[in-house]
Amino acid sequence: MLSVICDSPGVLRAHQSDVPERKTGEVLLRVSRVGICGTDLHIFTGTQPYLQYPRVMGHELSGVVVEADGDSGLAPGDGVYVMPYLSCGTCVACRRGKTNCCVNIKVLGVHRDGAMTEYLSVPAQFVHKAEGVSLDQAAMLEFLAIGAHAVRRANVQAGQRVLVVGAGPIGMAAMIFAKLRGGNVVCLDTRADRLAFCTAQLNVTAAVPVGPDDTAQLASLTNGEFFDVVFDATGNIDAMNRGFGFVAHGGTYTLISIVPGQVTFSDPEFHKRETTLLASRNATAADFETVLEAMRAGQIPDQALNTHRMRLADVPEDFPRLLEPGQTVVKALIEC
Ligand SMILES: [Zn+2]
Ligand SMILES: [Zn+2]
Repeated sequence: MLSVICDSPGVLRAHQSDVPERKTGEVLLRVSRVGICGTDLHIFTGTQPYLQYPRVMGHELSGVVVEADGDSGLAPGDGVYVMPYLSCGTCVACRRGKTNCCVNIKVLGVHRDGAMTEYLSVPAQFVHKAEGVSLDQAAMLEFLAIGAHAVRRANVQAGQRVLVVGAGPIGMAAMIFAKLRGGNVVCLDTRADRLAFCTAQLNVTAAVPVGPDDTAQLASLTNGEFFDVVFDATGNIDAMNRGFGFVAHGGTYTLISIVPGQVTFSDPEFHKRETTLLASRNATAADFETVLEAMRAGQIPDQALNTHRMRLADVPEDFPRLLEPGQTVVKALIEC
């Protein structure tokens, strides 16, 4: 079978090997689609701090069951998605149902080899039937679930003013689910193409470009009160620090981004607002269900979000092009 291996930063190589042998408790999948994520771009560029090379990337995937245990509830031919955060089930977080922040988490395509391959064998508890959605859609559940999880963490309510800073795929996912809960959503980003996408496809109330008068624009959109809920999805420490200032008195700030560094803020500003500060990491099975329901109901513009496609064999050549300036990629899918 064909796999694409990231040997070291900047180096992708096609590799032929045997189909993996399925162990008891695992499901052998024929991989169908793999979504390319910011994480993969970081692995490729060498800016993913916890990664050992060589690595097969890919954690956003759909597939078809080839072989499974009789009692797994899965049968050959089933279309499935995989929750790529392999959690231990016994640590303090898992015992409380927070498998998304498992102490011993192993993420496919990060801590162990992932989905840029033709066949993959994974523990059955992380494989779920993708009922009522296409294999394209099923490969887009993961990044959407991260947005759905953040919106659930922040407990967005109808009528709340919501600001999403960072209009990449994860920020867009937060916008989609904040809007589905009735939030009044504004986004802030540096890129004009992303802001235009959010206005045209996600129907946000306003899309504000980062610039000298952005704070004044955000103030005027909210009568000077700013936002009940602010999400950061930038991956930029300066933006993360700045976001504290966009939270209304009594509001909530949720950091979806992770950066290696220190988040800092003024305590008097933080305190006078009684800011609620949250981190949001990965997603749980419930968040994937939320996304599936929205997708089946036609509430996700998944075809617009899927801007690029490539074949697995073409990944070594086509993947680096996603990083070229002027590219307007939202979500690229690999066909395996
Ligand atoms: Zn991802
Ligand atoms: Zn655990």
